[in-house]
Amino acid sequence: MSVENYLDENYPAALDDLKAFCRIPSVSTDPAFAEGIRRAATFVADRLHKAGFTGVEMFDSGGHPAVYGEILSDPALSTYLVYGHYDVQPPDPLDKWKTPPFEPDEREGRLYARGVSDDKGPLLIPILVAEAFMRVEGRLPVNLKVLIEGEEESGSPHFSPTLEKYRDKLSCDLVLSADGAMWRPDKPSITVASRGLAALDITVTGAAKDLHSGRHGGSAPNSIAALVALLASMHGPDGRVSVEGFLDGATPPDPKIIAAIEAAQFESAAYYREIGVAGGDPIDDGRELLIRQWLEPTLEFNGVWGGY
Ligand SMILES: [Zn+2]
Repeated sequence: MSVENYLDENYPAALDDLKAFCRIPSVSTDPAFAEGIRRAATFVADRLHKAGFTGVEMFDSGGHPAVYGEILSDPALSTYLVYGHYDVQPPDPLDKWKTPPFEPDEREGRLYARGVSDDKGPLLIPILVAEAFMRVEGRLPVNLKVLIEGEEESGSPHFSPTLEKYRDKLSCDLVLSADGAMWRPDKPSITVASRGLAALDITVTGAAKDLHSGRHGGSAPNSIAALVALLASMHGPDGRVSVEGFLDGATPPDPKIIAAIEAAQFESAAYYREIGVAGGDPIDDGRELLIRQWLEPTLEFNGVWGGY
């Protein structure tokens, strides 16, 4: 039997595992869910054990434990470390759920539950695949380490020190994150790079005190108008950043990556339909859209506030 056949045959059991995992309310931000966090960590440790991982351990992080396991096949092979997290976002607001968030429900070929796609399903996949290799072939084609933390949804406050503390045990050639979006339901994908982020607030101050629009309108400079004019000057009509020097130092796109983007044949119209943009598609070429979305630095406004 092949590993793929094994996975096909054991799909119902894998789905049951995922449902059992999703029934555990492991909300990391709320101390009321401490019991759920503990149970989810135990679930991961047990599942690693069952799959054939050794050295399964709950790392003492100072917060919610990170769960570790390894399958070390051969020192001559590369070592991969898979990251994931067993905690989930709070399920509120509860009245927006069609079925209870911690009672997985299958509807039209999809499974609905809090945390099913972020990150309980994705983190189970490498564990189940490793299990399939161990059952069918008795070994993995690589050395595999798995680290599943419990504080991702609350900003991973203890993760860096935990990595430092267990540095030797975690050493590897490559890290693969099992957390992140899947590009399309029918297209497996690996994200090879992410944009970083720098944020800042801009405050525009005008007159020395609040001014009544009925009394001062038409004569006093308006801070909101000044702010909006400033923001509007940062992009050209084609949506490109027009701030001088903004792209200085940005790595030019690799032609090989551009060729791969062309091969993906991305449809920009479908994208705009999906996000609900009304009145024409700002970028009608799918290749150009992905280059801007994936390869170029962007400048975004995250909120505007002013007045009373
Ligand atoms: Zn996540």
